[in-house]
Amino acid sequence: MRILIVGGGPAGLTFAACLLRHGIEPVVVEKAPRGSTGGYSIGLHINGWRVAERLGLVEAFRAKAMPLGPAHHLDRRGRKLFSYDYRVLAKAAEGRLLAIMRSDFQDILTAAVTDKCPIHYETTVAALDDDGAGVTATFSDGSTDRFDLVVGADGYRSTVRALAFGPHEDFLRPLGYRASAWRVPLSRPLGASFVGMMDVNHQGGLYDVGDGTAATLFCWRDARTDRLDPEARRAVLQAKFGGWPEPIASALTSAIDWDRAFFDTVSQIEVPKWSKGRIALLGDAAWCLTFLAGQGTSTAMAGAYILAAELARKGHAEALDSYEARMRPLVTKMQAVSRKIGGHYVPQSTFGMRMQSWILPIMLSRPLIKFTSSRLAAPAVELEKSDD
Ligand SMILES: Cc1cc2nc3c(=O)[nH]c(=O)nc-3n(C[C@H](O)[C@H](O)[C@H](O)COP(=O)(O)OP(=O)(O)OC[C@H]3O[C@@H](n4cnc5c(N)ncnc54)[C@H](O)[C@@H]3O)c2cc1C
Repeated sequence: MRILIVGGGPAGLTFAACLLRHGIEPVVVEKAPRGSTGGYSIGLHINGWRVAERLGLVEAFRAKAMPLGPAHHLDRRGRKLFSYDYRVLAKAAEGRLLAIMRSDFQDILTAAVTDKCPIHYETTVAALDDDGAGVTATFSDGSTDRFDLVVGADGYRSTVRALAFGPHEDFLRPLGYRASAWRVPLSRPLGASFVGMMDVNHQGGLYDVGDGTAATLFCWRDARTDRLDPEARRAVLQAKFGGWPEPIASALTSAIDWDRAFFDTVSQIEVPKWSKGRIALLGDAAWCLTFLAGQGTSTAMAGAYILAAELARKGHAEALDSYEARMRPLVTKMQAVSRKIGGHYVPQSTFGMRMQSWILPIMLSRPLIKFTSSRLAAPAVELEKSDD
């Protein structure tokens, strides 16, 4: 079976690695130049962890993991609101949890598939023609090729989805926030895994990468969904967070590489069916959860694993239906969790902020962490069917 994977992100590269395990050699096209992945941190949770175990990548991810320690939340004047400890969360997950820079994550996956399948960088698809017997793909360089299946793993603003399923607006569900994230050098140690500051409608913070740099994450309530150029992005960040104390102040005045930095609307993707004929969607292209649940990468990895396993043992139509049936319940649950978390993550009122400051440390404390995890963490999806 000839498979084209559009998008060499977490979903696309994990899918490539999983197909290779089944003896299927895909072709990957990636729009960005090699090595230009996002300057933000991502978390590996139970579903991603179990896929990483099967791909033999856990030790490689661990070697690049960011340090786990306390997280301090302050108000916008720098006064302490509450703290908790990521090590308690990791213990509740029986050690199967880590944070890693997306660029490191991507390098590890790329190394796992390079030399085993072609990855064409700075390439995308311009047209897809599914005639029932196969798909003819026209690439951005004008060349064409024919495949049995095309999988769009090209993220939230998927070109494959736009070409084969319909315009972005049909599938975007904006949650009413914007977010931005980039990497900054630290002039002095953070002294914690995370230092964040919040105010009504605003949340900003820095995650310690462990190498003298930090990954920022800023999120604020904003109903607009128009795209902004880099100058306008900087102006919005200044308008929202300018005048906040350290470490926010330095992060805002740092040089931001907008090719790597993230700045976008926080929207979920809802596609009623993830496949159409011989074209399918995977990861954020199919079901973007948003970063709010911290499960996007792991869910994409689980989807990639299951889709590869189904394709290895069934015809494409049956495989695509089984993949969707196995993944849909997890995605539906985590999209609901994401929407719920958003309202707390960016407090809507001073009262909400006070309540959160009181309740969160209790919910994330040693005695209650198991209960909290059972409500908010992703359930482990069944990766193996007995006939896999
Ligand atoms: C700031 C931030 C923080 C996050 N934190 C977490 C977290 O803590 N934990 C977690 O699990 N998840 C987190 N996420 C979510 C996570 O990053 C995504 O869910 C995950 O990356 C989805 O992977 P993907 O491969 O489906 O899509 P993407 O990561 O979007 O990758 C898509 C890839 O396709 C490429 N591409 C795009 N268009 C085309 C095209 N037309 N042709 C070819 N290639 C194309 C892109 O360059 C990219 O390489 C976070 C996201 C953000 C933005």
